[in-house]
Amino acid sequence: MVELDSLRRLSARAGSDPLLVQAAGGNTSLKSDGVMWIKASGTWLKDALTRDIFVAVDHAALMQALARNDPACETCTDFVRTDLNASGLRPSIETTVHALMPQRVVVHVHCVNTIAWAVRSDAAERLSERLAGFTWAFIPYARPGLPLAGAIAERLRPGVDVLVLGNHGLVVAADTVAAAEVLLDRVVQAVERPVRAASPADRDALAKLCAGTPYRPAADDSTHALATDALALRRGRDKVFYPDHVVFLGVGVATSLASRAPLVALPGVGVVIRDDAKPAIEPMGRCLADVMRRVKEEDPLVALTASDIDRLVNWDAEKYRQTLKP
Ligand SMILES: [Zn+2]
Repeated sequence: MVELDSLRRLSARAGSDPLLVQAAGGNTSLKSDGVMWIKASGTWLKDALTRDIFVAVDHAALMQALARNDPACETCTDFVRTDLNASGLRPSIETTVHALMPQRVVVHVHCVNTIAWAVRSDAAERLSERLAGFTWAFIPYARPGLPLAGAIAERLRPGVDVLVLGNHGLVVAADTVAAAEVLLDRVVQAVERPVRAASPADRDALAKLCAGTPYRPAADDSTHALATDALALRRGRDKVFYPDHVVFLGVGVATSLASRAPLVALPGVGVVIRDDAKPAIEPMGRCLADVMRRVKEEDPLVALTASDIDRLVNWDAEKYRQTLKP
């Protein structure tokens, strides 16, 4: 399908921009002839042109189930069109977000600039200034799956084509892939935040610290900012601000090799990654640094609560996503 090919191109583009998507985060969809093609759980948008990352679900059946708050909407596996599902993959854990938007094309990204606003307690108010001129809605944080679907359904008004998900990310929707791409770029530009410069990593010190250990220095200079930007490290150590942060990095960024954590931020020196860490780990560490370098000391931030974290890490659909490789 030509349109799905266009969506693959947009998906690969968004998926290759670390300021929009990190690892398997973010997802895209297209509704056509009663079917919604949605990114599969655990797959990476950046791979959209080289492997089959889309799963077909029955949109009408899913919408009916959502209307009755059916627990099957937690994973959406019951709505897969098995006759079209050659990959055998499961739909994204965020499929319901896409189903609820009436537009044909939906793009959900973990846009760093958006998250830098969405982690603030005054996000809705501050974004009203930035997003004046857009038809948008702010959705307070809710766990993906049924709780997030409920929060969106409550606040969706006719014409809304931009959602900012509190402590989470951005959704844009349009009736064509081209229009969705234009809208995505416009919103991302509107929410752009100044980024604080970070000191470079101390590469010599990192090499010495890693010698004889299962750790190696992070590949990307921007990842090291998690260790060299004092505010980023403090915020990352103390609290959890969005779902993929806790799912991939755990509660509180580790700061000692003795922790054996997959990612360790050595304060003032740089970030190291354990040899057997999943490929998602470094992009997630970089994302945390990228978000926090767009936050100031005095910004009023709101973190996920202990029960938010518990509901996330003990959610079966998320556990499944974590078993997928990479
Ligand atoms: Zn998301």
